[in-house]
Amino acid sequence: MLSKFSKNLIIDESNQCVSCGLCLPHCPTYRVLKSEADSPRGRIALMNGVANGRIALNARFIQHMDRCLTCRACEAVCPNNVSYGRLIDETRALIADQSKSVASARKSNWRIALERLLLTQPTRLDRLRRLLHFLQKNEWLRGLRRSSLIKNKRIFKFIIQLPVVKFPYAAAAENTASNGSAWRVVYPAQGEKRGEVALFLGCVARVTDVATLNSSIYVLNRLGYTVHIPRNQMCCGAIYQHSGALEQANALVQRNKSVFAEFDTVISTASGCGVQLLESGVAGEQGEVIDISHFLMAAKGWESIHIAPLAQKILVHEPCSLRHVLREQAYPYQLIARIPGAAAVPLAGNDQCCGAAGTYFIDQPEIADTLLQNKITTVKESKAQYLVTSNIGCAMHIANGLYENGIHVEVLHPVTLLARQMGLEL
Ligand code: SF4
Ligand code: SF4
Repeated sequence: MLSKFSKNLIIDESNQCVSCGLCLPHCPTYRVLKSEADSPRGRIALMNGVANGRIALNARFIQHMDRCLTCRACEAVCPNNVSYGRLIDETRALIADQSKSVASARKSNWRIALERLLLTQPTRLDRLRRLLHFLQKNEWLRGLRRSSLIKNKRIFKFIIQLPVVKFPYAAAAENTASNGSAWRVVYPAQGEKRGEVALFLGCVARVTDVATLNSSIYVLNRLGYTVHIPRNQMCCGAIYQHSGALEQANALVQRNKSVFAEFDTVISTASGCGVQLLESGVAGEQGEVIDISHFLMAAKGWESIHIAPLAQKILVHEPCSLRHVLREQAYPYQLIARIPGAAAVPLAGNDQCCGAAGTYFIDQPEIADTLLQNKITTVKESKAQYLVTSNIGCAMHIANGLYENGIHVEVLHPVTLLARQMGLEL
């Protein structure tokens, strides 16, 4: 049973809400469903009722909590500083703890096993790289995409739609220690030495977003920063955290804390992971977790770097984690502005979630598709060739939507576009 402390935490925090309703127009699910119970104010009132024992913890309550994207747009605009993110995580832990039969019915056994495999043993994913690459190269996965067998199986569709698998940057270089997962342990700085940083790989991202990781290493090295890829780093734990599995999330956090303990600066390339690393204190009291765009804009050494021009309109998508939580959405625009001729333009509707939201696009496909369609429409109207985003989950979700709609816009991380213009061949 969940501790009295957690229930008290839900009661205390939900009591901070004064029901002003200022958050309602910012909530994507309220805008789509137009129901008070699917708004932040409504959800907070329900949480308070359940924690106080006035409302039953039943399937309807769970549904309203499940429909929340944890985008935290409500938290960003709340005049009373209600910690909505904390509230929804604790409430999901309450649901998982007090309603085990309902909770387990929400996830199949194979999904639980897959999550455990991906989240607790991410180095195993590195070993799947060659297999995935082989299947993609031979178009087998693309062929499966057209099969009616997987038509309504979103998790399989997701696997089939994974971006082209790439290999770690300079993994074959000689005279450098390998950590056994195809990533080198150290990527030395080039030219004048300016510092040392650790790079967080993530779990799924270490296979699906190698382009961003390679690009980050390349740009950091060129600017004079040595990049360390510590062994045994784990998933950040966000997926467990937001599904109410707080103990499992904490176990991953503790592992990462010991892995990154010796580094002052931990760089994250996915803003969703960055939030979790930051809020869970992975870098310790002395260290910092910092998003790659923020770090690069503060870095020195740019004067000696040649960046090839790209006279194009670059749409900038602002992930909720970057905009509503880190509040660092300005940095990707500044990074793109380093490319001569490039015009960074906000994607219309950046204040609203794209619907990816961790595993939300699998669990709540109707709402996720509605939100995605808004993005697709605005990208189409923009007539741009490129869209940059700082979170791999959003990138894959939007790229798949564009593919399904026959729209040829390249979706990539801002650092990837920058590295390419600096000469990295991806
Ligand atoms: S803005 Fe804050 S105080 Fe107002 S209803 Fe929303 S959560 Fe409650
Ligand atoms: S986190 Fe997002 S979806 Fe959930 S209540 Fe807040 S604004 Fe709405």
